[in-house]
Amino acid sequence: MTTRVRFAPSPTGALHIGGGHTALFNWLWARRTGGKFILRIEDTDMERSTPEYEDTIMSGMKWLGLEWDEGPDAGGSHGPYRQSERLELYRENAEKLVSDGSAYREGDAVIFKVRPDVDLSFDDMVYGRIETASDALQDRDSGALKDIVLIKSDGMPTYNYAVVVDDHFMEITHVIRGEDHISNTPKQLLLYKAFGWKTPYFAHLPMILGKDKKKLSKRHGATSVYEFRDMGYMPDAVFNFLALLGWSAGEDREIFGREEAARLFELSKVTRKPSVFDPDKLNYINQEHLKRLDPMVRLAHIKPFWEEMGLPADKHDDAYLAEALTLMGGRGQTAKELAGFSDYYVSFGPVKERWNSDGISGELRAGMKEFYAALTDAPEWSSDALEAQARAWTEEKGVKMKDYAMTLRFALTGMKVSPGVFEVAALLGRDEVKNRLAFFGLG
Ligand code: GLU
Repeated sequence: MTTRVRFAPSPTGALHIGGGHTALFNWLWARRTGGKFILRIEDTDMERSTPEYEDTIMSGMKWLGLEWDEGPDAGGSHGPYRQSERLELYRENAEKLVSDGSAYREGDAVIFKVRPDVDLSFDDMVYGRIETASDALQDRDSGALKDIVLIKSDGMPTYNYAVVVDDHFMEITHVIRGEDHISNTPKQLLLYKAFGWKTPYFAHLPMILGKDKKKLSKRHGATSVYEFRDMGYMPDAVFNFLALLGWSAGEDREIFGREEAARLFELSKVTRKPSVFDPDKLNYINQEHLKRLDPMVRLAHIKPFWEEMGLPADKHDDAYLAEALTLMGGRGQTAKELAGFSDYYVSFGPVKERWNSDGISGELRAGMKEFYAALTDAPEWSSDALEAQARAWTEEKGVKMKDYAMTLRFALTGMKVSPGVFEVAALLGRDEVKNRLAFFGLG
């Protein structure tokens, strides 16, 4: 039996962290089992659903690397994959329940009759046995069993009905979704039973909370997947972070890639307790991924942020820029932060903006010109040669290397902290170093 799982978003908003998390666990299970991952668009709320949201959800999934095997754009043998294109199927099947007496008509609506003494318990792959008291289906005031609307008077199916018809005809084997749907499952099971259809396995995923232990929402800051992209988080890191919400790849495996996660993932190891969205952890994971990137790939992630800052990254060749980022070592938790820390390689502009000559004494200012002259005497323009030259000169003059190196650093980078200043000078090149020092009257 081939595993078939689905992610079934309603296109009524962007792809949020919760949706991304559900999509990701479905994707992992499909890849882990060699099965199929299906995207189904639940757009029966005609007023709130838009094609634009459908597009953002799909591009959010692609950004996270969650490619689907069947879906509205990808096609497949179990389509159509938008609920709004399956209305006929919902109508036909509702008719079956009317003709066998399980449902009745009320005007244009079709309603499922809930009979007394129904068994509402089920086994969940994450939560275990779930016993739902039958009062879940009882009217609070009268205590009478509430029937289940299948088709509303406007002709649209309800969520609980459409999801059962679709999961059945799409041959979904595992329904993996947020735990907020646990309370819907018993109703869906009644419908499976009435149709005489085989039920899928259910696996509900724990809730994601903010650090204050409240359900994750806008109050906690960014929630849409795109906001994370725009802040400089990388898809691999967000993937890694989301995978760790409710699952663990093993004690010492915190940083991993898609393939590794897909190899190790187990639905039965998903925890029941809510997981906490910890932004510090996301920063840490992002930094670890950023560090490990191949220099040219890292450059591709940083470039858009330089451009966003108005820095002319295109004026330089990629090898130079990639080398600059390599010099930055592991600095920067996000691509945006790293772009900011390394702006001086791209342009002198930000250095001028940060520059102030406070703390540079007249003596130091005069000495800098000689110091620079000594640097230009280096046999070659390399970090080692520049450093040796600087050392020899400061020793000869009996001055502190630190004072000169700090001033040089500040004139080249506009920062008090940077990678080794001679490495920076070597990479910037003789002409650029000369320009910058001359501009500040130091060279
Ligand atoms: N459209 C539903 C939602 O977005 C799908 C729930 C399900 O997976 O059954 O919550």
